[in-house]
Amino acid sequence: MVVTTRNPNVALLCSPGMGHLIPMLELGKSLISQHGFDATVFVVTTDSSTTRSQIIQQTSNPNSDGLNVVVLPPVDLSGKLGPNSSHVGARIRLTMAESLPFLRSAILSMKVRPSALIVDLFGTDTFAMARDLEMLTYVFFTSCAWVLALAVHVPVIEKKLLDRHVKHHEPLPVPGCKPVRFEDNMEPILFKDEVPTEHELFVQIGLNISNADGVLVNTWEDLEPKAVQALRGGMIKGKIYPVGPLVRGVDHSRTKKEHQVLSWLDRQPAGSVIFVSFGSGGTMSEAQMEEIASGLELSEQRFIWVVRPPHKEDNATGHGSFFKIGKNMDNSLKKFTSRTHESGLVVPMWAPQSEILEHSSVGAFMTHCGWNSTLEAITNGVPMIAWPLYAEQKMNAAALTEELGVAVRVKGGNKGEVVERKEIQRLIRRVMVEEEGVDIKERVKELKRSAKMALSETGSSFNSLHQLACHCKVHM
Ligand code: UDP
Repeated sequence: MVVTTRNPNVALLCSPGMGHLIPMLELGKSLISQHGFDATVFVVTTDSSTTRSQIIQQTSNPNSDGLNVVVLPPVDLSGKLGPNSSHVGARIRLTMAESLPFLRSAILSMKVRPSALIVDLFGTDTFAMARDLEMLTYVFFTSCAWVLALAVHVPVIEKKLLDRHVKHHEPLPVPGCKPVRFEDNMEPILFKDEVPTEHELFVQIGLNISNADGVLVNTWEDLEPKAVQALRGGMIKGKIYPVGPLVRGVDHSRTKKEHQVLSWLDRQPAGSVIFVSFGSGGTMSEAQMEEIASGLELSEQRFIWVVRPPHKEDNATGHGSFFKIGKNMDNSLKKFTSRTHESGLVVPMWAPQSEILEHSSVGAFMTHCGWNSTLEAITNGVPMIAWPLYAEQKMNAAALTEELGVAVRVKGGNKGEVVERKEIQRLIRRVMVEEEGVDIKERVKELKRSAKMALSETGSSFNSLHQLACHCKVHM
């Protein structure tokens, strides 16, 4: 073995989507600033991706700690989408496959060949190329350890157990973890017979993750001790590295000037504002948006609501805005904003979420439970109202309400059903006004402390990244 004094050099690959890009950039920054790595993040984009401009904006942030970011040339999917590729997973997979030649030639042209490739869950098809170039293969799983355990378990689960779950709605056992309720599970599992291509993709990704040299996960030991232990107990071949919570930091020097929402928050009393946002892709139907507007008014609380154009064809919820945008905001929303402008703000499309959640005027967060949003709420000690929409968000909501006790969960809202204004009002008041909210706040503050500890120089997540650095050094 040759021992070298050079920094370990890694390449990180990110699929299109802010939910993966944000933690991937944070991982790159931590590797550089705290563990002596050289790191390059390659970001995949498409022409039609509505997040492309946000990706460019995010990656051009000067506060990047020397991180090298390469936005790969946009991929044109037109004419390449087959009859089975209308689903998000299949599109992202195709996008990643089309970007592979760009990635390979970019890596080959680097002065120092990276010793490892770290990809998000949609990037695991690149592992053959990485192995061919003698690079170690890692996955950075940007959701929680429980979801990771499910993802790697599904490919090996007994068929009869999966069938009982899908057909008879029995809970799905996951070794060493809480079983997954039917109503909380993910589409590629539940609709395995209706949409077999998405299920096969899910299974393939699970297998690829299981066979990687290591899996980094954006959680920490004390948040999910059971699931981390289960993963260590032989569910995956490689080593498991809980490295979180990696969340986007706040750049205090820029933000106030740039967004009026923050100066508005400065003028509100402490803990008085409910922040409502459903992530980078979550959309609601017009009917649901009307109910949210009325629920906010009925709750008599101050609010910030990030609004995205509604999806007609999707009825109540959707995740189509990763690839397309609906129509512009309509009149009823304009009337609502003129009625409520003294107590609340409606922000179209995108708000500086990390900065908002960090602000002392924010008292609660109504969220779709995307894992980044969840971590941002926890690391800022903000109680949540869980309104999961798609992907693994219902599992996150179950963990937040039933295991961690840091959220209340919306009732209904499944299969296009509209959640009524009274329910929305009730949830907001439970967290913002009633005694229950005080207990939730206590618990989320405890988790905030535990998160800070994990990231400190003596903490478990810091130590995980240190071990990764040692492993990469040996391979150089
Ligand atoms: N985000 C933001 N402003 C917005 C919407 C989202 O800054 O208006 C950020 C948010 O802070 C988080 C990420 O985008 O870091 C969304 O990731 P998450 O996993 O919560 O949900 P996804 O968008 O992947 O569904």
